Amino acid sequence: MTRPPTGWHFLQLPGPSNVPARVLEAISRPTTDHRGPDFPELTNAVLAGLRSVMRTSGQVVVVPASGTGGWEAALVNTLSPGDRVLFFETGQFAANWAEVARRFGLDVEVVPTDWRRGAEPAQLEERLSGDSGHSIAAVAVVHNETSTGAMTRVADVRSAMDRAGHPALLLVDAVSSVGSVDYRHDEWRVDVTVSASQKGLMMPPGLAFLARSERAAEAAKDARLPRSYWDMDAMVAQTEKGYFPYTPATNLLFGLRESLAMLEEEGLDAVFRRHARHARAVREAVHAWGLGTQCVVPDEMSDVLTAVVMPDGHDADRFRTLVLERFNMALGTGLGRLKGRIFRIGHVGDMNDLMLIAALAGVESGLTLASVPIERGGVDAAMRSLEQDD
Ligand code: PLP
Repeated sequence: MTRPPTGWHFLQLPGPSNVPARVLEAISRPTTDHRGPDFPELTNAVLAGLRSVMRTSGQVVVVPASGTGGWEAALVNTLSPGDRVLFFETGQFAANWAEVARRFGLDVEVVPTDWRRGAEPAQLEERLSGDSGHSIAAVAVVHNETSTGAMTRVADVRSAMDRAGHPALLLVDAVSSVGSVDYRHDEWRVDVTVSASQKGLMMPPGLAFLARSERAAEAAKDARLPRSYWDMDAMVAQTEKGYFPYTPATNLLFGLRESLAMLEEEGLDAVFRRHARHARAVREAVHAWGLGTQCVVPDEMSDVLTAVVMPDGHDADRFRTLVLERFNMALGTGLGRLKGRIFRIGHVGDMNDLMLIAALAGVESGLTLASVPIERGGVDAAMRSLEQDD
């Protein structure tokens, strides 16, 4: 039976995540003159906050775009037509980024995976060691593969590149990891990091962020892929003065300043611990239900989301529809080859214990109502996990 949508909507996606009232209020302020004397204060606050969550002291830009625009910006600011780029297809987002690269005429090489783990550093080392002519211009990986709930160990990827002595640039999609889990642009010597507003930063969709290394800034000088809107040099030149080369998404910047302040108030490490603790509780629930997760490598399980595999013969989207109609809760769908096979529980952004428990109660009840064979007790297991894991 469909219930009327009273109470609040549970947005349990791995992005867009819940937007806190403080951020929404900031966004609703009257728009100001982006060429006025006060604007640099906003620009500087936002860039300083982004540097802090991306853990970089280098150049950062904000563009009005979703993460997909950020992918494009990362490629056109570093590469030339025909350049070889090595991707690890860890899931649908890695596959989509590789497709963007193909459309730009790059020579895309894809290392396949079973979509149940992150990119394998040893495999990368082997591939790069075999490229003695250094024909690979860039390696591209997705840090937190939101379609599977598996993480790539970026620090280990960088070490593998070092061991192979290979000069390729390292491009990282950190769309669902910045502000959600530990991410270190400078320390891991990432050349370009791409992120977006609607996940760990608790913002509506609409902004993409890029951080780049000095090497990436150098590479831009020789990069011949056409670029105009995404030209990072033009953006950096303007934002250093506190302004933008075109009309920025002013009200989203108001919201971003607020969300960055909230992350700083809680403390980034505390935010990461909160997400990790919630992720552990969700995994306890999944285990108690007798179900499995899409990610099969314990060290690579995401703290941002959990992708749950449906038993054979049960359609994950039918279950998701039931949960939406009955409990007014949105769960993430399976993407690409995982359509109908998995559903994704987002546990990122503005969340607390009771929100998580309510979401898990909706999942447990929904699975039962959809006649999916599970053991009851997942919610109880999650509550025990939260009680013990303080
Ligand atoms: N990369 C990852 C890891 C994502 O999770 C997403 C979106 O969910 C994207 C890229 C694409 O970003 P967008 O949908 O904002 O264009």
